[in-house]
Amino acid sequence: MGNTNCEEIKQQAEQELISVSDKQALEALRVKYLGRKGLLAQLMSVIPSLPVEERAAFGQAANVLKNELAELFDQKQKDMVSGAHKGNQAAVDISMPGIACDIGNLHPITQVIDEICNVFSRMGFSIEDGPEIETEFNNFTGLNIPLDHPSRDAFDTFYLKPNAGSNEKLLLRSHTSPAQVRLMKSRKPALSVVVPGRVYRPDAVDASHSFMFHQVEGLVVDKHITLAHLKGALEEFAKAVFGKHITMRFRPHFFPFTEPSVEVDISCIICQGKGCSVCGKKKWLEILGAGMVHPNVFKHVGYNHKIYSGFAFGMGVERIAMLKYGIDDIRLFFENDLRFLKQF
Ligand SMILES: [Zn+2]
Repeated sequence: MGNTNCEEIKQQAEQELISVSDKQALEALRVKYLGRKGLLAQLMSVIPSLPVEERAAFGQAANVLKNELAELFDQKQKDMVSGAHKGNQAAVDISMPGIACDIGNLHPITQVIDEICNVFSRMGFSIEDGPEIETEFNNFTGLNIPLDHPSRDAFDTFYLKPNAGSNEKLLLRSHTSPAQVRLMKSRKPALSVVVPGRVYRPDAVDASHSFMFHQVEGLVVDKHITLAHLKGALEEFAKAVFGKHITMRFRPHFFPFTEPSVEVDISCIICQGKGCSVCGKKKWLEILGAGMVHPNVFKHVGYNHKIYSGFAFGMGVERIAMLKYGIDDIRLFFENDLRFLKQF
């Protein structure tokens, strides 16, 4: 009997609490249930009139109800307080300054790679990728680099252990040119691609050397490609990156994978041809190496060199970035000093 009453009172209280929306109504309801003359007090008042054996159980049930009701009212009060804060617009000061967050920016090397690739992309080149772990064939043999060439030496190339069950020597690519071999082996001409990426050489680190740096490789293969196409593409690139006022010159050079080969200079962007410490008073700055693809390279990848010709070039991204921004130490690019990086 007592338990049934208790349950009914609790349910009734829960029901009535739902519609309560202000402090006064909540207090009135608390008095109705828990006040001195409230429903709980009335319930308790019948105890003395009960048979002795029922009194203890009834009293216990009434006490449980008292605690439950107290908890219900407390909870409702808490809900009303937090709800009031949520709904109260005045509690938010919209004139307060926001929390400033550091906005990152692209690394200067990434920016220069993007800029170089964009220039060639506008000329119709596609941007390609190649793996940093290469085979000895792709890095040297396929590029017509003879077996006794010093660049194959372990002092100039990082060699890796061959895969289990394979005799093929693996290495960290020492230039981006092996990507040429991969692309030509997997595609038919015509091709016009640039390949940016990291390269590795066991150099001691100093102001102008790093064991890891970046290159952008370029390759064009088609019928009737000549040195004039190479010159046109590189002049477009140099003027886009260094400014329209610069002049460019080709110097004869030797690379195993191109014939003829050239080194490409631009007029010094620091002194504009007057002579300064950056250009060593020579008035010219070397920016890249290039040439016409050697027929032996075409033979290695299965292209007919009597039908197709092509040009290739490769440039060091750090060198381009150092010239462009007037940076005199390559180590700055890899020290991750935010005071340096935030300037770009
Ligand atoms: Zn100069």
